[in-house]
Amino acid sequence: MPDCIFCKIVEGKIPVKKLAETDRALAFPDIDPQAPEHFLVIPKQHLVAMTEVTDWSLVGHLHEVAVGVARERMPNGFRTLINTGPDGVQTVFHVHLHCLGGRPMRWPPG
Ligand code: 5GP
Ligand code: ZN
Repeated sequence: MPDCIFCKIVEGKIPVKKLAETDRALAFPDIDPQAPEHFLVIPKQHLVAMTEVTDWSLVGHLHEVAVGVARERMPNGFRTLINTGPDGVQTVFHVHLHCLGGRPMRWPPG
């Protein structure tokens, strides 16, 4: 297992404010929020990127957790996204779903 900051969060070695937790996923605020509301949902299993996913129900589950949290925190709407690889500007190599809101998002992104 590579030295992975999100695995350390899953293992409780780095404390976070848990917004939601299931047997397969954990949601917590992003350390560098890009909107008034910005949290991440990660699988507890270490997966480097979306290109490594084989159990696609897990990706659905990440969204299920995100919407459960966002419904309360962002009643006016939100954006979910997953960055993959260099062109996706992925910086942490453990799959994570971003959920942003609390203001209108811009389009096109990036
Ligand atoms: P990426 O560009 O890989 O999609 O985004 C990685 C995200 O993880 C960034 O938004 C960054 O702020 C967040 N992040 C990186 N390290 C930590 C950390 O230790 N704790 C938390 N809560 N978020 C982190
Ligand atoms: Zn990991």
